[in-house]
Amino acid sequence: MNRLLAVLLVLLTMTSVCVRAEDDDGGEGTISFVDAAQADSFVSGGAPASVEPFAPDDLEKIILGSDDRVKVKKPKEYPYSAIAYMVVKGSCKCNWTCTGFMVTKNTLLTAAHCMVCTKHGKWAKNITFYFGYKSKKNYRYRYKSRWQAWAGTTFPEHRYTSSDDWAVVKLDKNVGDKTGWFGMRFCTDSELLGNSFCIAGFSGEAKLRYVWGTVTDVWEKQIGYDIDTLPGDSGSPVFDDNYYAVGIETNSSDTANFGQRLRDEIRQVMVKNGLL
Ligand SMILES: [Zn+2]
Repeated sequence: MNRLLAVLLVLLTMTSVCVRAEDDDGGEGTISFVDAAQADSFVSGGAPASVEPFAPDDLEKIILGSDDRVKVKKPKEYPYSAIAYMVVKGSCKCNWTCTGFMVTKNTLLTAAHCMVCTKHGKWAKNITFYFGYKSKKNYRYRYKSRWQAWAGTTFPEHRYTSSDDWAVVKLDKNVGDKTGWFGMRFCTDSELLGNSFCIAGFSGEAKLRYVWGTVTDVWEKQIGYDIDTLPGDSGSPVFDDNYYAVGIETNSSDTANFGQRLRDEIRQVMVKNGLL
């Protein structure tokens, strides 16, 4: 894929860059860069083959329909409760919004470009995570304390690269006990290709939408799936009907979407930092 096309693709999914500043800032955090070589050198012993999903007892567990309705009617119930609407402020003072999702009691996954201002190449500084979000005054849970993140790329020279567009975010509190979390499956090619997955995320107007798509392409680090309409934003979970995430939505074209595969590189970062 040439560079111009790659830039165009990410622009299609990036929403609400430089929205109005929040009244108060979200929690502060720091970001470390993890390159593939570093992740490959991690010891793989002790890494789980998969992670089980979790739904708190007080949440209704929504059976995932396969119809084409795209607006989520009950964003406060599981598994949608585990999806975060992220309001981000960069160290350059720009604001933008994104999607992320819980995968353990204190770990959230998102796209790396959700953690950086693509205009200035500056990292996120403050983030507010809204779970079960309907509006700024109507949500299930809001997290605005400290966080720590590890990202797969620094986007050198402000150039978008989709191949390592992932980030692991550790929250200082066990938010997942309240929101639930998605399981994780680290799939083989054949477990992905031709199979149907759901993608749910916050679109530009901050509404949670979902859509189903079939995986049509599999690469070492990425998956491609054909869907008719965009559900929303970068950093959304790509998950199956048993609430296991298999990917992270990153960028799109008119006819296809692309995501990160949940893979050993990402799992190792979580193991090394005590998150799995
Ligand atoms: Zn900026």
